[in-house]
Amino acid sequence: MILQVKELSKSYGKKLAVNKISFSVEEGQIFALLGPNGAGKTTTLKCILGLRKEDSGKIYLGGTYAYLPEKKELYKYLTVEKMIEITQNISKMFRKEKAVELINDFKISLKEKIANLSHGMLTQVYISLVFAEDVDIYFLDEPTWGLDPLMRSKVIELVRKMSLEGKTIVYTSHILPEVEKVADVVAIMNHGKILELDFLDNLKEKYVACVVGKNEN
Ligand code: ATP
Repeated sequence: MILQVKELSKSYGKKLAVNKISFSVEEGQIFALLGPNGAGKTTTLKCILGLRKEDSGKIYLGGTYAYLPEKKELYKYLTVEKMIEITQNISKMFRKEKAVELINDFKISLKEKIANLSHGMLTQVYISLVFAEDVDIYFLDEPTWGLDPLMRSKVIELVRKMSLEGKTIVYTSHILPEVEKVADVVAIMNHGKILELDFLDNLKEKYVACVVGKNEN
């Protein structure tokens, strides 16, 4: 087991964002946190990564990691190439050749300025930088948010490829068909709770029941 979360809770003032959730992730797995906006997915990742201090619970993270944040911003006035160079200077695990290869695969020019990239291309550049880190586990917060279907399927393909290379991936999404395609294990999250944890059996029915059921309350 590379990641274990036990009874994790986190509030913002009176708002209980994450409410005693537990799950574990095995090495090499693609683990998805599936849930609508506000479910608590980002807060969960941030607590695991130490970007937020949990109120209670235990977290075990047994490997090196890289993180794709929900808000994907890079230095606007730099070229993609310069961004790669800077990342290499600040991260020992970063593989420049891998970043160049991935960005070429996405058919994005290294000479392009970040400011000139569309939202989808910016996400793809950011994902390339993250996957160029030679770490054990990747945390991806909504990696396909706002991407068109073609870009989305390319990102999903890359997630699968990284998993085949033995890497562990924890990612969040609100898109059920995508999660069905890519994940090995899914935790359905809503209102700060994990409502189902499963290996994709009857995922659609469970997701609808969890989300619709809760909204009716
Ligand atoms: P989204 O995809 O919309 O970000 P999410 O599932 O990632 O959703 P979180 O961002 O973790 O959910 O938010 C969970 C709850 O906590 C939401 O009700 C949100 O409004 C609240 N929340 C998140 N961050 C803060 C904050 N910094 N201060 C106050 N409330 C917050």
